[in-house]
Amino acid sequence: MPTLPKSGIAPDEVLAAMMDARGEDADWRRGRLWSLVYHGGAEHTGTLHRAYELFSAENGLSPKAFPSLARFEAEIIGMLAGLLGDAGARGSMTSCGSESIMLAVKAYRDHARVAKPRIWRPEMLVPSSAHPAFFKAAEYLDVVARPIPVGPDYRAVAGAMADAVNGDTILLVGSAPSFPQGVVDPIDELGRIALDRGVGLHVDACLGTFMLAFLDRIGRSAPRFDFRVPGVTSVSADLHKYGYAAKGASAVLYREPKLLRSQVFVYKDWPGGHFSSPGVTGTRPGGIIAAAYAALLTLGTDGYTRLAREAMELTGTLLRGIRGIPGLHVLGKPDMSVFAFAADGYDIYAVADALEKKGWHMDRQNNPNSLHMIVTPHHGQAVGAFLEDLRAATARARQRPPDESSRRAVLYGITDDAGTG
Ligand SMILES: *Cc1c(COP(=O)(O)O)cnc(C)c1O
Repeated sequence: MPTLPKSGIAPDEVLAAMMDARGEDADWRRGRLWSLVYHGGAEHTGTLHRAYELFSAENGLSPKAFPSLARFEAEIIGMLAGLLGDAGARGSMTSCGSESIMLAVKAYRDHARVAKPRIWRPEMLVPSSAHPAFFKAAEYLDVVARPIPVGPDYRAVAGAMADAVNGDTILLVGSAPSFPQGVVDPIDELGRIALDRGVGLHVDACLGTFMLAFLDRIGRSAPRFDFRVPGVTSVSADLHKYGYAAKGASAVLYREPKLLRSQVFVYKDWPGGHFSSPGVTGTRPGGIIAAAYAALLTLGTDGYTRLAREAMELTGTLLRGIRGIPGLHVLGKPDMSVFAFAADGYDIYAVADALEKKGWHMDRQNNPNSLHMIVTPHHGQAVGAFLEDLRAATARARQRPPDESSRRAVLYGITDDAGTG
């Protein structure tokens, strides 16, 4: 491992070496990666960079020192509240969807400690398709997360969720949409259960907010998923996905201010002063808040509508193409621009192997084994070539005996045996 250089290396040299280091990275710039990157175009990215630069040194931890950042954040939350159907909703920006979810779980837990002190071990009911962040939050916060199997359509089963509610339940979870199959859970039904049983309902719209909220403007029907649904008490929404903000930007919003108050950490006895912080992080990067603010204001309703239209058109082309390839099927009925497809009785990972040889980076899922796609307008350049390569890869994989494929499902982050070092 290298050590800290004694005298600094020239910036040009360091930056050139960093450019070189990208050689092995997934080729998202040519649309060869179907996840992780949400690119709003070169001009838009330039705007994000300029906004970031303006505030790269500022720290949103102190709204007193930087009222500019406090105002940007308040306006971002206000714009999101409007999009999510309750202008009165309150919330805060966070560093990622996982933090938004973690803070929501913390807010419900701490609120329940006061409102339902009899609950010894608080529980949340989490559809099995929900993001691992709920299980991470459960582990960090000592809240029990009970996975409830989804139905054959990959959506949460409202009846099963209702049956699982007990005296310790503080929270129901629904996704809009779920990551693995891109389907929106029956939020209306979950809302009725939440109201009936007097528990919270968090909708994880990290992935969906900036698509679903614009689908009706392009003449497509979107399932109701937000504060318009009675019983929904909080929503998480990632700015750094289809919000096309710079990475490190998400938000969590609550229908009632009392939950937001339970989210905020306050410590008054510190010799360093009265400390209060809404999220997991202390320092809150000004550049990220500024870039998200610039994204929302420069794109506006028309910009997000255009981006949603383009993503949905490309999704349509891909779905038609995949459904037309013998031996492949799409899982469930995806509600927006995220979906998975699987093989009819052979090894779909063999298809992924062949595609990867052609330079595509494929996300492998399991239960059931499938390949996952998140479509953005930036994929326009790649859709034709992808379908062609997929057709060839599928034809070949169907001939191949199933036990040949050695690769396991995609693992996000480090593997069990890799360690952190
Ligand atoms: C991405 C995602 C999250 C988590 O967001 P991060 O920013 O990666 O922490 C949560 N839920 C869903 C549905 C997501 O797609």
